[in-house]
Amino acid sequence: MNYSKQRELILKTLQENPVHPTADYIYSVLKKELPTISLATVYRNLNQLAEQGKIKKIEGLDGSSHFDHTIHNHYHFVCIKCNKIYDIPYEVAKDIEQKVSAMTGLEITDHDISFKGICTACQHKN
Ligand SMILES: [Zn+2]
Ligand SMILES: [Zn+2]
Repeated sequence: MNYSKQRELILKTLQENPVHPTADYIYSVLKKELPTISLATVYRNLNQLAEQGKIKKIEGLDGSSHFDHTIHNHYHFVCIKCNKIYDIPYEVAKDIEQKVSAMTGLEITDHDISFKGICTACQHKN
């Protein structure tokens, strides 16, 4: 199987699993379809896709890198019970860069917000 075909399958697997999977998770799903694929190949392709801006790499949520097929701006919420990552709309903190800039005089080029708590599914388990 050629490289571009592999990459296509990796991207497809990510799009079909919108739970912000890790490379390990994508590897475990892909292995069923492509027994010869290696974890290193999955990693390399995911990193290349992220560098090309086709997907997003999310770091610092729980110690491992997660991948996101949603590339428009949004925030993340990590459930402290089930560790699932949910998307939070960008609109919750719309003018945040302008506000920070106005308050501090700093020139903001990027920002990152993540939320932690208990998701609705876990709240209902109690
Ligand atoms: Zn949860
Ligand atoms: Zn996301």
